[in-house]
Amino acid sequence: MDRRKRIAFLSEHAGPLALLGSEDAGGQNVYVDEVSRNLAHLGYAVDVFTRATNPETPPVIDWSPGVRLVNLPAGPLEFLPKDRLWPLMPAFCQAFLQFMRNDGARYDLIHGNFWMSGWVGLELRQRLGIPLVQIFHALGKTKQRHQRAADTSPPERIAVEREIVRQADRLIAQCPNEQRELERDYQADPRRIAVIPSAVNIERFRPVHRAEARRRIGLEPDGPTVVYVGRMLPRKDIRNIIRAVALLRRQSDLPLQLLVVGGETVAPDPNATPEIGVLQQLAAELDISERVHFYGKRQPDMLRNFYCAGDVAVTTPWYEPFGLTPLEGMACGRPVIGAAVGGITFTIQDGITGRLVPPRDPAALADRLHELLTRPEQAAAMGQ
Ligand code: UDP
Repeated sequence: MDRRKRIAFLSEHAGPLALLGSEDAGGQNVYVDEVSRNLAHLGYAVDVFTRATNPETPPVIDWSPGVRLVNLPAGPLEFLPKDRLWPLMPAFCQAFLQFMRNDGARYDLIHGNFWMSGWVGLELRQRLGIPLVQIFHALGKTKQRHQRAADTSPPERIAVEREIVRQADRLIAQCPNEQRELERDYQADPRRIAVIPSAVNIERFRPVHRAEARRRIGLEPDGPTVVYVGRMLPRKDIRNIIRAVALLRRQSDLPLQLLVVGGETVAPDPNATPEIGVLQQLAAELDISERVHFYGKRQPDMLRNFYCAGDVAVTTPWYEPFGLTPLEGMACGRPVIGAAVGGITFTIQDGITGRLVPPRDPAALADRLHELLTRPEQAAAMGQ
């Protein structure tokens, strides 16, 4: 008889499968993939539950040893933006219970990811009498503070988050900043919060010699190069990086180039990823189009070549709950410049592993880029 303890990972919109496909996938997908695999490695049996979005995908997939992916029917079998999924959560919860009946699975623990799966987790905790560990990945209050009218979250979000904070058996905060937000904005009981920083898979993200990395992605071997890897969202403020590169081009004779990796599709397509169109337009207005190379989305196994093709990795979002990409840049041996917001203030040690700059400040970023690109020994030491 299988005596392994069983964990139900709930992650309604962000599962490992999307990392392979063309859907916009980010840190939550990577977290669910890596943490479920590692729990299985420790001897647990893990089932990861996401909403089914494709009629071709089987309902249950053996994903990796000890990990199954379960695609639960809830709403139309197509991709929907996550802000439209809240009304589907009762159906998602029912589909989970139906799966348990059919499969005969019993769980010892529920791990909720994001607020909607947290709500499902609360329902299941009550009905099945099993504990819930919750990680939010992003909090509604923080998003509202920064995005205001642009925040398309359902109006119920913050109240639901409060209820999860009140009832969940344990809360995972990814960094001290998130811990403070849980306590200050949601009155979380500090004794139930565990700070567990997200990590990086160092087999996947590891140093590659710069010339070799550039060869692999078809780039000229020379020239100072800045890299951005991540989702193409206005809040990631890649516009800020383009403005800084343009400033630096005007102020110095550095033959600088910028690689921008990410998007909905493998080929950079402004129709599929409107932010790419905005960035291309901005680069054209600033007369640096030939200096900015868009790559579209790449699979995690390819990304070390992009980080390592660069001399410095940059990410300057308006806000960032945690931010995996700075750690990935570091794991690839590169110095990282990041905006001094959220989790980035925790992961980058200013002056040691990289530089912190204020968000929305292209001049400050241009100064730091100039510093690192003109002092390769200092940059290499930080990367090391
Ligand atoms: N990522 C990827 N392919 C891409 C661009 C990004 O696999 O083309 C991954 C990246 O390596 C990182 C994640 O998406 O692991 C982004 O996570 P992060 O926490 O930095 O930001 P989020 O997307 O959660 O806002």
